[in-house]
Amino acid sequence: MKLEDCKKCKNHVELRNYQVQCVYGGAMNSMATTIDEKTGEYKILACPLEKK
Ligand code: SF4
Repeated sequence: MKLEDCKKCKNHVELRNYQVQCVYGGAMNSMATTIDEKTGEYKILACPLEKK
């Protein structure tokens, strides 16, 4: 999940120290981000929307 798309997600709360605060499933979680070396964009490592 790209950070730009994550920011538009209804579960997105904020980005703090490169951890996304996400309320997916009703509980606050910190999601680690990483930089994609190919595109230079930040992405979410373990977005629950992608774990299906
Ligand atoms: S980590 Fe996934 S579920 Fe959570 S706010 Fe970002 S896009 Fe939405």
